[in-house]
Amino acid sequence: MTPLLDIRDLAVRYGRITALDGVGLHVDAGEVVAIVGPNGAGKTTLLSAVAGIVRPVAGSIAFRGEPILGQPLERTVRRGIALVPEGRRVFGGLTVEENLRVGAVIRRDRAAAAAEIARFMEIFPILHERRNEPAGRLSGGEQQMLVIARAMLSDPALLMLDEPSLGLAPKVTDQVYALVADLRARGVTVLVVEQNADRALRAADRTYVLNAGRVRLAGPSAALRDDPAFEAAYFGMG
Ligand code: ATP
Repeated sequence: MTPLLDIRDLAVRYGRITALDGVGLHVDAGEVVAIVGPNGAGKTTLLSAVAGIVRPVAGSIAFRGEPILGQPLERTVRRGIALVPEGRRVFGGLTVEENLRVGAVIRRDRAAAAAEIARFMEIFPILHERRNEPAGRLSGGEQQMLVIARAMLSDPALLMLDEPSLGLAPKVTDQVYALVADLRARGVTVLVVEQNADRALRAADRTYVLNAGRVRLAGPSAALRDDPAFEAAYFGMG
């Protein structure tokens, strides 16, 4: 079976800094895959390369079997790749509902987009309750739900999340990951980047450990949880 996303030998440099070096990974349709690693491991760079925000110097990226490396962000979004960047960037001055409408702009079918917004308000009752409030007034967890819902409105085949738990209390993080589990149950494919390894290992079917720009370890999350090599790989001693 052709993976949904297939990355091979990927290298990205920023000037003299090598952010990614010979990275290979794949994501099959329907999977939740995590990339974990410490600060500066290259996790954000990897998602940026897939989205078309940074241009790799070597390697290949295929989506649904077609090469997408070097394509600009607009093209990757249209192909069905959605990126939720780190930092929960909502449009703070727009209402919750307006934020969701922004997420649906690439949908041609207006009626279907409105129906989708209504459906997401059902999935996230808190967004419905606060639909007329400025998004800037939501809590961190609510803003995270909003940016995920907004990304889902482009109807992506692949949802990429950059550090969704960053800065959130454990209970709120639980809610965000319950949402990821819910999306998975609905057939959404998710690639999530996390520094929080425990959380990622619980949420993902498979996990890749990235350190200093290289994949150090990879496998089914259940196996990595008990693998004595995990910590060494994560902290760069592997
Ligand atoms: P974090 O958790 O801090 O986001 P990360 O694993 O996502 O870390 P990246 O942000 O991808 O890591 O960074 C990988 C390496 O590339 C780091 O050494 C970082 O300093 C460097 N880097 C990232 N972005 C740039 C940039 N725009 N210009 C120069 N160097 C950069």
